[in-house]
Amino acid sequence: MTVYARPGAEGSVVSYQSRYDHYIGGRYVPPAKGQYFENPTPITGQTFCEVARGTKDDVDAAVDAAWKAFATWGKTSPTERANILNKIADRMEANLEAIAVAECYENGKAVRECLAADIPLAIDHFRYFAGALRAQEGGISELDGDTVAYHYHEPLGVVGQIIPWNFPILMAVWKLAPALAAGNCVVLKPAEQTPASIHLLLSFIEDLIPAGVLNIVNGFGIEAGAPLASHPRIRKIAFTGETTTGRLIMQYASENLIPVTLELGGKSPNVFFEDVAREKDSFYDKALEGFAFFALNQGEVCTCPSRALIASSIYDGFIADGLDRVAKVKQGNPLDTDTMIGAQASNDQLEKILSYIDIGKQEGAELLTGGERVDLGGDLSGGYYVQPTVFKGQNRMRVFQEEIFGPVVSVTTFDGFDEAIAIANDTLYGLGAGVWSRDGAQLYRAGRAIEAGRVWSNTYHQYPAHAAFGGYKQSGIGRENHKMMLDHYQQTKNLLVSYAEGPMGFF
Ligand code: NAD
Repeated sequence: MTVYARPGAEGSVVSYQSRYDHYIGGRYVPPAKGQYFENPTPITGQTFCEVARGTKDDVDAAVDAAWKAFATWGKTSPTERANILNKIADRMEANLEAIAVAECYENGKAVRECLAADIPLAIDHFRYFAGALRAQEGGISELDGDTVAYHYHEPLGVVGQIIPWNFPILMAVWKLAPALAAGNCVVLKPAEQTPASIHLLLSFIEDLIPAGVLNIVNGFGIEAGAPLASHPRIRKIAFTGETTTGRLIMQYASENLIPVTLELGGKSPNVFFEDVAREKDSFYDKALEGFAFFALNQGEVCTCPSRALIASSIYDGFIADGLDRVAKVKQGNPLDTDTMIGAQASNDQLEKILSYIDIGKQEGAELLTGGERVDLGGDLSGGYYVQPTVFKGQNRMRVFQEEIFGPVVSVTTFDGFDEAIAIANDTLYGLGAGVWSRDGAQLYRAGRAIEAGRVWSNTYHQYPAHAAFGGYKQSGIGRENHKMMLDHYQQTKNLLVSYAEGPMGFF
């Protein structure tokens, strides 16, 4: 067990600055309006730095700097860009511990998750897109012996990217790696709750990236995000966040007719078929772990398995064992490597979760465990901790239909395969899903029948760079991860060339 020292304290692997400006054109630039906002750690609720509060003028400056850099960056070879991406990955790996602790401190998530999953996944993302880029081919096809069609992958130009706070580094990297690999310049707006860990990452890699290729404008959604998403000189906007915000982003983008990628909310079903409980073996144990995964990352995951659908015939035994498993999820100081779940990312998020717990009680859902804010004592008393919470109810309740984004699962039962699928599909969302069974054919049929962009079978919460990720229905438009992302950040140029000297013969 290791308990990491807090940033700034003696022995800490991280030293945050007390103030973060924007990063534009390779320089740190104060906000045009001179305003800053406070950034607290959810671990104690205390402010640890202040951050530039961006507005339209800052976005304009960043877009200008990005276009200036694009004149050179857009012409670099895939090999050059792949080398830079690989060097970024190496630099991140060399500083993994510092990045992990920084993210933990700013977001409140357990440091063990940052060390073992979030940051290694982000590193691999850069390596994956470096490799995918090298393997990408243009196409040459002959119309006839004298006429040839050449296809080229060209970058879009300057792209805007807006990200949420739940995986500050990974969400940034999911967007940056393919966009930079494809030859674009970027203006990124981090979430106002977690900008500092992205600046810390930048401090390790900025010398590897030419000035202006990556620009960061901090700030709030309406003040900095909206001017970016509606900017007439960006060529694409990629957004991850709430479905309600996604609708606005699409409206802004429609003004300039630019493509959008929207990674939005979810209410993912986790379906446990009857044969899961046939034996109390290691597979059963794995399924119980899959049930308890609703609390991973404090439930602040777009694919949180926030609805558990359990076959009625096994319900009593499965839920009893499931609750035992939930009770073993260790909550505590996020900087302690033994801690499994930490603090919610902000006070607003804490209050939203507690209000949904009240809604669940009011609409008659049965509270099986949890339901309270947790006081961890000492200065952690000011932190935003919530007990893992399990409700039993039925799928039309609000706690089954609306995204809570906290460690709360709503459990219901089903009779037979068709009812399981009907309940699984009965929400506006379609991001993730889990299916658990010992029967491969049943898993396959369920996987195809569930309306979601990612269906895990006998596993959950794995996010390799090469597996396409994104939403059906109101969970989004487009995909992230997978080499197909290069296409999403490029446009295809076709040159149709005749090498024949004679006339074409039509006129
Ligand atoms: P949010 O929509 O409130 O904010 C996301 C980002 O958008 C922030 O940077 C914010 O400043 C910005 N923003 C807010 N209003 C804006 C506006 N009008 N114009 C432009 N930008 C604006 O979401 P959040 O609370 O930060 O994140 C949680 C949400 O993100 C959840 O719904 C979750 O499901 C979703 N999410 C989805 C995925 C996915 O891949 N599908 C991944 C992570 C999180």
